Amino acid sequence: MKSLWNDTEAARCESELDLRVYSSRLLGSDPSLVLHGGGNTSVKITEKDLFGEQEEILYVKGSGWDLATIEAPGFTPVRMAHLLKLARLETLSDSEMVNQLKTHQTVASAPTASVEAILHAALPYQYVDHTHADAIVTITNTEEGEARIRDLYGNRVVVIPYVMPGFDLARKVAEQFSQDAHEGTLGMVLMNHGLFTFGDSAQVSYERMIRLVDEAEQYLQQHNAWETPRNHRPTEVDTLTVARLRNDISEVAGFPVVLQCHRSEAALSFCQRNDLAEISQRGPATPDHVIRTKRLPMLNDGLMDYVADYQRYFETHALNARNPVEMLDPAPRVLLDPKLGMLTVGKSSRDAGIVADIYRHTMEIIQRAELLGGWRALPAPEIFEVEYWELEQAKLRKSGASPSLQGEVALVTGAASGIGKACVDSLLSRGAAVVGLDLDETIAYQHDSQSFLGIGCDITDGEVVSDALNQAVLRFGGLDMLVLNAGIFPGGCPVASLDDETWRQVMGVNLDANLRLLRLSHPYLKLAPKHGRVVVIGSKNIAAPGQGAAAYSASKAALNQLARITALEWAADGIRINSLHPDAVFDTGIWTEEVLAARAAHYGLSVDAYKKRNLLRTEITSRDVAELTAELCDRRFSKTTGAQIPVDGGNDRVI
Ligand code: ZN
Repeated sequence: MKSLWNDTEAARCESELDLRVYSSRLLGSDPSLVLHGGGNTSVKITEKDLFGEQEEILYVKGSGWDLATIEAPGFTPVRMAHLLKLARLETLSDSEMVNQLKTHQTVASAPTASVEAILHAALPYQYVDHTHADAIVTITNTEEGEARIRDLYGNRVVVIPYVMPGFDLARKVAEQFSQDAHEGTLGMVLMNHGLFTFGDSAQVSYERMIRLVDEAEQYLQQHNAWETPRNHRPTEVDTLTVARLRNDISEVAGFPVVLQCHRSEAALSFCQRNDLAEISQRGPATPDHVIRTKRLPMLNDGLMDYVADYQRYFETHALNARNPVEMLDPAPRVLLDPKLGMLTVGKSSRDAGIVADIYRHTMEIIQRAELLGGWRALPAPEIFEVEYWELEQAKLRKSGASPSLQGEVALVTGAASGIGKACVDSLLSRGAAVVGLDLDETIAYQHDSQSFLGIGCDITDGEVVSDALNQAVLRFGGLDMLVLNAGIFPGGCPVASLDDETWRQVMGVNLDANLRLLRLSHPYLKLAPKHGRVVVIGSKNIAAPGQGAAAYSASKAALNQLARITALEWAADGIRINSLHPDAVFDTGIWTEEVLAARAAHYGLSVDAYKKRNLLRTEITSRDVAELTAELCDRRFSKTTGAQIPVDGGNDRVI
């Protein structure tokens, strides 16, 4: 590990707080030091208060900020004098501690200070850096952890036995640090937790962190505990098993979850270890990992029932490993299976991704600790305490209402432009994960979101579509909603000269491909936690056909009949199928400006008047159709199937 300190960049910092931001970001840029909001830093600054009196203020990382991207407002200013007084109290409940932090900050709008604020205050240095560095966590989570740390650092660090983060830890540190620290003290190791360094400048504190972690990494290398095994048997995934698993987990959680399948070499190698069931059960790497893999609210009761159920579940499904993290929770966060690999669970794709990042580090930590003489995690009662930790409970209670389609997965065809693209936006904005299929390969890069998977493919190729569905299930865990949107309109042609090839081509895309997609999606839609939904984008032409559009209108009419029959057949599976019949949606791929101008001229109308050629004299946009599509998938239409709804501004031939 190398220091990333850059004198030129540091020289641009105009204040001590700026320097604090700068070196915090350096720490945050290395995921082996801090991951997803982990770690915290502080600086003590003496400044004038409103009355012109000097006051020492601790600027400490506020909750909700990530060291990698933190800015000055991410540091909460709290009065030092009060923090030091708190550190001398005999006891302080965690909720009262949070209240004291909140009521003694000097900026009301600042975020709530880190729960480790008192600990930062108790360390008598201007700058304090704290990480959960993988290398430190690895060494302290072994049988001889404390002896190894003392062997490695000598008396350069103060070693604090494991205490759960919160007031008790701050008090313990305040006591022990003043006893053990001396001039040569560079840092403080918290067993099973992480490392603190400090100094009278941002650079000194940061570089001590890098130096101590670098020594720990070298220690692991010298003890042949760095390279972890990379060998696995190739396995096949049955995506229906994955979808079934997601359905069951969603049921336990009480709402739909995203389930991600991770099958990297590292993940499969870990999951295929002979001792997996044993080593993965010993406990999490740091209390912080338990805390942050826990994003779902908990069920009110039945933890033990759940554990029993869960064991039964694994027995019945012949999945033979589980992780302790999930054992504490009504729904699991991480599942390990030699065949499927590492599976992570979250309310959203982003949450499942965070869990995956954390567990990727955990796998390395466990394996390195094994190589170093035996992984030994926190004892179970400690984990349990973290689980029911007051502060964690408060955090969970605070989380507000979720978007209506959160945790659900939709697939949209023809997703790169027009109505399809708008559908992707509408579904994403309601919290769904979305898979977009399109002939246009740029679909892969259209949305910069972990909740979107774009696959360039031809939906008339059955194998390609089946493969796309598999990818969707591996990425998000299943399929809840299907939007059949892709279609072609070959241009006007009278029946008398309509050739077979055009007819076949239009039927192939507008009809056959949709039948195939329905058929292939059915087993997944059946497993949707909130029941499957299909929205078919039909056409006004079904009710009110026009001359010269025989192939298009016939294909859409046939698709409409297919949808109605599917609604009859799939009702027993709880799957709803509804159709929208848009008309005159001009912001789609089919309507170029020239075509639009030509059609308007044909009717002797201006383009604007042509666009609003309906009873309500209103323009219909892709977004209108998309929002109605999302709405059909949502709660308000939960009791509607087989419906056909026009989106055409009112058409006298349809009404
Ligand atoms: Zn910590």
